[in-house]
Amino acid sequence: MRVLVTGGAGFIGSALVRHLVLDKGYEVLTLDKLTYAGNLASLRAVEGRNNHSFLKADICDARAIHEAFATFRPARVMHLAAESHVDRSITGAADFVQTNVIGSFTMLEAARTYYAGLSGEEKQRFRFLHVSTDEVYGSLGDAGLFTEKSPYDPSSPYSASKAASDHLAKAWARTYGMPVVVSNCSNNYGPYHFPEKLIPLTILNAMDGKALPVYGRGTNIRDWLYVEDHARALDLIIERGRVGETYNVGGRNEVKNIDVVRRICSLLDQRLPTGTPREELIQFVTDRPGHDARYAIDATRLETELGWKAQENFETGIARTVDWYMDNEWWWQPMRKNYAGERLGLTSGNKGTG
Ligand code: NAD
Repeated sequence: MRVLVTGGAGFIGSALVRHLVLDKGYEVLTLDKLTYAGNLASLRAVEGRNNHSFLKADICDARAIHEAFATFRPARVMHLAAESHVDRSITGAADFVQTNVIGSFTMLEAARTYYAGLSGEEKQRFRFLHVSTDEVYGSLGDAGLFTEKSPYDPSSPYSASKAASDHLAKAWARTYGMPVVVSNCSNNYGPYHFPEKLIPLTILNAMDGKALPVYGRGTNIRDWLYVEDHARALDLIIERGRVGETYNVGGRNEVKNIDVVRRICSLLDQRLPTGTPREELIQFVTDRPGHDARYAIDATRLETELGWKAQENFETGIARTVDWYMDNEWWWQPMRKNYAGERLGLTSGNKGTG
């Protein structure tokens, strides 16, 4: 099975590549531009494997993408390459529109040309999985869950750009009969997560005794999905998902941000006691503009149709994540030199000190 994975040097992409190469034995081509978020160190576990290769390319570069299709001849495309950080999208949306919209368009067009040239069995089994986010559905109140039928209502430049790319992917299925499947997942966490996101930033700052910034009062709720559970779900969706359909992926693990931070503090207090509870490092800072209150996924379709079940709950997953960061300084230390965790994503109207 030949699988082309875009964004495979990123957080979720690298977990997926490790799963496909090491657990499934598939032949994988990782295609990645290696932006600040891409890191070849995340692929160290598959380095030297004869069923893995890497191509440095931009998904907006139509020529490079067409060539990758023509030479690798994938049976499956799993498209994860994206600009992914909401805060960065607030201060600079251009890269998000370029990569997430134009780049996805370029991928779909290259796939369409390639698909048109396939026949027989190869044509029958070709699939394109577009990986997206539950943020396209906007924000929930206290009750309810996002289903595959929830209307799109994105709040940030990031989620708007992902929503646009989801619409393109579905239109390519309807208009051109392309075998496209879309997945929308909740917030991921786990090993190899770039330390600008809440969980890795909190772990590293708490290990260093640095301030732990929490937006607003920390009441925002996210439905946490362990990244390796997500990788297994993506493989299942592209293998057995119905063409033209959407599958929501979520861990049924709703936790308030403040409770995420408190849990990390207590895990680190047990593992690396300092005598002072790390909760004292928590600092409430000015909220993110347009910050969605709550996301929660109804993963019934994925569970009942495809038989997926998360293997980690938040308690087990967060403990594994903390342990991984404690054991893998080689991976995160070089990144901390370039990005020390400074605040991103404030518009000029709200640059308060919090
Ligand atoms: P990430 O930022 O860790 O990785 C993105 C990868 O894409 C990086 O390796 C980067 O180098 C690469 N990339 C960026 N622009 C590129 C371009 N123009 N051409 C080629 N490669 C490029 O992101 P992630 O957290 O691993 O997210 C992967 C996908 O899952 C994204 O599509 C994201 O929208 C989606 N998603 C993520 C989450 C989450 O919690 N992390 C939740 C829902 C959906």
